[in-house]
Amino acid sequence: MTYIVQNIKLSIERSKDDALTVAKHRLLKFFPKNAIGELKIYKSSIDARKKENILFVYSVSAQIHEAPRVNENAMLKDGIAPMPDEEMSIEFGTERMDGRPVVVGFGPCGIFCALLLAKHGYRPIVIERGASVKQRTADVEAFFRSGILNPESNIQFGAGGAGTFSDGKLVTRINDPKCGYVLSEMHRFGAPEEVLYKAKPHVGTDYLKKVVENAEKEIIRLGGEVLFQTKLEDLVISNGRIASIRTSKGELPCSLLVLALGHSARDTFSMLSSHGVEMTAKAFSVGVRVEHLQENIDFALYGKSAGHPALPKGEYNLSCHNENRGVYTFCMCPGGQVVAAASEEGGVVTNGMSNFRRDGKNANSAVAVSVNPSDYGNRVDLAIEFQRKLEQTAYLAANRSYDAPCQTMGDFLGKTKNTLPSGVLPTYRDGKVTMTDMDKVLPSFVTESLRFGFMNFDKKLKGFAANDAVLTGVETRTSSPIRIPRNEDYLAVRFSNLYPCGEGAGYAGGITSAAVDGIKCALAIMKKYKPNET
Ligand SMILES: Cc1cc2nc3c(=O)[nH]c(=O)nc-3n(C[C@H](O)[C@H](O)[C@H](O)COP(=O)(O)OP(=O)(O)OC[C@H]3O[C@@H](n4cnc5c(N)ncnc54)[C@H](O)[C@@H]3O)c2cc1C
Repeated sequence: MTYIVQNIKLSIERSKDDALTVAKHRLLKFFPKNAIGELKIYKSSIDARKKENILFVYSVSAQIHEAPRVNENAMLKDGIAPMPDEEMSIEFGTERMDGRPVVVGFGPCGIFCALLLAKHGYRPIVIERGASVKQRTADVEAFFRSGILNPESNIQFGAGGAGTFSDGKLVTRINDPKCGYVLSEMHRFGAPEEVLYKAKPHVGTDYLKKVVENAEKEIIRLGGEVLFQTKLEDLVISNGRIASIRTSKGELPCSLLVLALGHSARDTFSMLSSHGVEMTAKAFSVGVRVEHLQENIDFALYGKSAGHPALPKGEYNLSCHNENRGVYTFCMCPGGQVVAAASEEGGVVTNGMSNFRRDGKNANSAVAVSVNPSDYGNRVDLAIEFQRKLEQTAYLAANRSYDAPCQTMGDFLGKTKNTLPSGVLPTYRDGKVTMTDMDKVLPSFVTESLRFGFMNFDKKLKGFAANDAVLTGVETRTSSPIRIPRNEDYLAVRFSNLYPCGEGAGYAGGITSAAVDGIKCALAIMKKYKPNET
């Protein structure tokens, strides 16, 4: 039996071993010494609400061997609870699969869907329009250096999907026991051990590349295939079934098709729509990346404890409402860099990434303003057009280049005029930015809400609206602008073998939630079909 000893609060001077000792003391009230087996850190977080007394908060898992019956209510009062059962239950169907399943997209959703299918003998074929990790890394670095974009191999497209070049934050708002499975698989493929217990786990781009390559090897070892630089271009449909698909490398038969496309596959959305795949327009957000010095963020969060070697780089998560519009920080990357995240020629897009050590000088985050369907005309094509127009306006403002528009916070808030970055230097493409008035790039409802948000956030995190912070834009790919409706069997409307899932289909908003949706989709497929023996 495993128990969790919760809520162990220790000062930042104390170590993880101290947490294990405290847990053991608490357990000894209920169990004899020889019944207490292995103790491990189960979760750890930081309570920095009181800067003068920052605390680590731990919970510890404990294996208990053959012990006399205990009063679990009394234990609960002492913060000791049985470990929740996180086993994933799998049901197998009886229908025969006519051929192999095809998964489109090798992002977190496609990877986890394919992994589970492969593990249980369904032999999936994954096709991915972008390149393998090594080739993609070379393409992304070339784009950062020279501004020559490869529209099929970039920050959005390629092995590992949109999140490969990211901070690799694995926190999610979804509360699903499958998240634990995702974290343990990520660890098995090379993510640092701390992802298993930190309340805000993160992997970093350096480790993520390894994780993605190892996941690919595992799918192949289990009988699957992963084909890079292979793009889904068309569907062959017969009686509401996808009979085969046309790819950039030729036609491929498929028993069923999983669409794990991500939010940037605009050409593929339009192809799907031409075949009658139902889609609806949804709300999304747009804004800018804001950069501060990481040491200033640390000071704002930790006070005089900033820089303490036991403390992680400071992270924030801020939000407010400007009348009916949400303004919020998103995808904060401590010690990271702003990345050029375009996937279409003639458009500028920003995003953020960090390495595991988060040791860059700047902290960055997106500050995004909600865009409602009524802002753009409530149609799928108009939603995409709205995003694309902003990206193209940013490209024009950067003198028809990928040198993103940039402005200091002081100038944006009207407190200074025509200032160049000084204290905080923009990290986008090593500083290849064009100083621009953001009001010329973004609609006024966005810039007004950004100004409101910056001032609001400055009250919550001192220095957020400091004059020397820099804004780089535009941040348009925060979430999918569309949803592909599906029924309780995860099937698209009117199709008997088409499975839309992940962020692109509107069912996830980050690495972990996309991976979980891929798992759910695989479970739905396995519930219907028996494993593929051919
Ligand atoms: C720079 C950056 C940083 C991010 N940081 C974080 C973070 O720290 N934490 C977090 O939780 N989230 C982060 N995100 C968001 C996260 O990456 C996404 O939510 C997640 O990757 C979505 O997973 P997905 O599998 O649904 O789609 P994606 O990861 O977008 O994968 C879809 C894949 O499908 C492929 N594809 C599309 N069309 C076709 C086609 N026609 N044929 C073949 N293949 C196709 C694409 O090339 C892509 O590789 C970040 C995103 C970016 C861009």
